[in-house]
Amino acid sequence: MFSKLFPIVLITCLLSACATSPTGRSQFIFMPETQIDQMGLQAFDTLKKDKKVSYNGQYNQTTTCIANAITQVVGGSWEVVVFEDNSPNAFALPGNKIGVHTGMLQLVDNQEQLAAVIGHEIGHVLAKHSNERASQEMAMSQGLNVLQALTMPTSALGQLGFGMLGVGAQYGVLMPFSRTQESEADIIGVDLMAKAGFDPKNSITLWQKMEQATQGKQPVEFMSTHPAHATRIQNLEQHMPQAMALYQQAQAMGKQPHCI
Ligand SMILES: [Zn+2]
Repeated sequence: MFSKLFPIVLITCLLSACATSPTGRSQFIFMPETQIDQMGLQAFDTLKKDKKVSYNGQYNQTTTCIANAITQVVGGSWEVVVFEDNSPNAFALPGNKIGVHTGMLQLVDNQEQLAAVIGHEIGHVLAKHSNERASQEMAMSQGLNVLQALTMPTSALGQLGFGMLGVGAQYGVLMPFSRTQESEADIIGVDLMAKAGFDPKNSITLWQKMEQATQGKQPVEFMSTHPAHATRIQNLEQHMPQAMALYQQAQAMGKQPHCI
């Protein structure tokens, strides 16, 4: 994969399509941001029609309260919707859209664990993981034609390129994230929850609970390409001193959310 992708990465980097994620990782991203966001919005609208939106007052209140506390840290406008679905899952779409299943609300013991889930999902969006995934897929399957197409949007080739973005709506935006991306969303998420005033140590408890809950069952977003649990927890433990420092700063600033 590397040898096939490398010339494309090199050329795109020369065309300034390289990005840096919030954790400082170099990313290969070339899809136009507005197009990817638009696909996210469309996919989210479809989900709201196809899936049952929850009107459980308590679930919605808790989720909104936690999401507001975290999104205040990052800014921008976000939409977080609770869906009636018993699987313990949550998902993120470009365009600042987050979905949380009622099964996830049933699984968590406290507001901190749900903050870890929402922080993780917001982490995927902030790090543009959908665009990165779609860019990689597109480069692998179409090679340099795509780059030529995107630099000449009005040409016939350009039309073809943007037509392929539509394919990305089905396969790119909603496809599972990579292990690297999952780990990165963990770290971004744990920092975000800490900055919002939620004790980050609960992220570790959450992943332990998720492991127990999903054993032998359908893989969920967190589990589909997840890093091995031991690795995931080890990474979080390693990062915990930094997250705890952020948490203490938030507490000193009087950030003590009471969402449940
Ligand atoms: Zn994830």
